[in-house]
Amino acid sequence: MAGRIPENILEDILGRLDLVELISGYIPLKKSGRNFKANCPFHHEKTASFMVSPDRQIYHCFGCGESGNAFKFLMRHERMDFPEAVELLAKKAGVNLPKQDSPEVSRAASLSSQLYKVNELAVSFYENNLYAESAAATREYLSKRGISPKTAKEFHLGFAASGWDHLINFLRLKNISLALMEKAGLILPKEGGGYYDRFRNRIIFPVFDIRLRPIGFGARVLDKSLPKYLNSPETPVYTKGRNLFGLNLSKDCIRDADSAIIVEGYLDFIIPYQEGIKNIVASQGTALTLEQIRLLKRYTNKAVMVYDGDTAGQIATLRSLDMLIEEGMNVKIVPLPKGLDPDALVRLKGAASFKEMIDQAAGLFDYKLEVLKSRHDMKEAHGKSRIASEMLLTINKFDNAILRAEYSKRLSEEINIPENCILEELNKLKPNTLPQEKLSSSIAGSTPLINPAEKMLIKFMLEEKELIEKIMGELEPADFQDTRTAKVVSIMLDLFSRGKSIAPSLLLNYFSEDDASQLLCESIFMPELLEEEREKALNDCIRRIKVERLKSRRERLHVQIKSAQSSGDEKRLSGLIREFHELIKKGD
Ligand SMILES: [Zn+2]
Repeated sequence: MAGRIPENILEDILGRLDLVELISGYIPLKKSGRNFKANCPFHHEKTASFMVSPDRQIYHCFGCGESGNAFKFLMRHERMDFPEAVELLAKKAGVNLPKQDSPEVSRAASLSSQLYKVNELAVSFYENNLYAESAAATREYLSKRGISPKTAKEFHLGFAASGWDHLINFLRLKNISLALMEKAGLILPKEGGGYYDRFRNRIIFPVFDIRLRPIGFGARVLDKSLPKYLNSPETPVYTKGRNLFGLNLSKDCIRDADSAIIVEGYLDFIIPYQEGIKNIVASQGTALTLEQIRLLKRYTNKAVMVYDGDTAGQIATLRSLDMLIEEGMNVKIVPLPKGLDPDALVRLKGAASFKEMIDQAAGLFDYKLEVLKSRHDMKEAHGKSRIASEMLLTINKFDNAILRAEYSKRLSEEINIPENCILEELNKLKPNTLPQEKLSSSIAGSTPLINPAEKMLIKFMLEEKELIEKIMGELEPADFQDTRTAKVVSIMLDLFSRGKSIAPSLLLNYFSEDDASQLLCESIFMPELLEEEREKALNDCIRRIKVERLKSRRERLHVQIKSAQSSGDEKRLSGLIREFHELIKKGD
């Protein structure tokens, strides 16, 4: 990973930042001894196994194995590539990066950053169009829909005129290649060759990510004969279901309010937001994805879902909300009257009445129960059983034993079935949720297989540079049986011999493979030894590795001897046998 951006610059950036501060901007960290702890942001878990070391400036999750330094955290959490993470942290740290036009760095400039640039140009192109004389009717339309000129500006709303190549011509003048325009999803290839603009005669809603970069577009039709909305296709910077529309504007308000209102469409977001309901996001689809939930969880764990009455009553919708519970979120539902969306509701009845509905929202459990009761006949055993099995799915998503007990009790009362029957059914369900957990622990299980002595020696060398020479006086990198440990050791030695820093957070820049960096971080987070235990432990580890080394040499010789025997190579055989005896003597 290092190499493109000079090592000393990476070192400078990492040296000026605090990883604990950086990570606590995303998830709440709790002090735990010398380290900090949290529920891992990279896998679903119930007890915190994500550790951050302020001394070492690295993090490691004992659940899923995710680990690294500040760059890696941003790459994973914000889905940045390495140059982007470096750029962002350099800015934070006040470190100047080599000029953009230096060939090294411009080569590193990723496709993503080129796409953001193209999108940015398109945003400004469409936005300018909206204020052209020819777009008077469009502006009129926006004002009829209740969007003020100020709001239009705030959201960078735009207009794509009818015509096939307005955007193409504009971007060409800016020296943007057709290939890049196509990658950005802004143009489409014609059948007979050539390209045409994807968005024509539509109002444009640019979509920004939380770092305010334009990632895609939604386009609403003016001409009623066409589909109402057209969105950007998936591109390297835009994946449907990974983003929440408007979060770039509302995230601070959501954090302050400790609650997020979730609506579906662009206008369902824009109109309430304009009228002062600021803790809101739009999912751009009926079902929330896990990624959207996790994105939102950075700011709050309370969500109020606003659906039109039809959608909200659907079991599929309700089931998809169970996922929010599973992610530890507190979910409420607001069903709107049929055919009324938040946009229309706020325009017709005002923001106050929308707020009132939000305040009175029922919890998912109660709402789902009401829906089911209205659908199934409670007087019949089958009806009861249908209600119970559907509700048990929801109850089963709660981690918290108290909530599970409380809701089981409520369900028993509501459908008049003894509580122990409900609990019995609930217990039957529990194993279904286990494979997920087993899966993550088996991922973690892949590293502990590494000889603990090898990991311990890495820890020793990172903690006390003086020990490097002692250890390497007795062992070679190749003596480490695991290829990952061997790789970490040889890179460490190389840096050390060149007088470079081997601080773990810097060392990590040299590994692009996850398993090597995982191993490194895991070693560091191994339990601390008491001062008086250190020397004995060190010698034990060295001895154990030597024993392993002997054992594997013996095994290798054994195989060689066998093959010499079967091929009848007497001369080679006697040489090998001599070697074998010498080895055994050494072992004693
Ligand atoms: Zn994890």
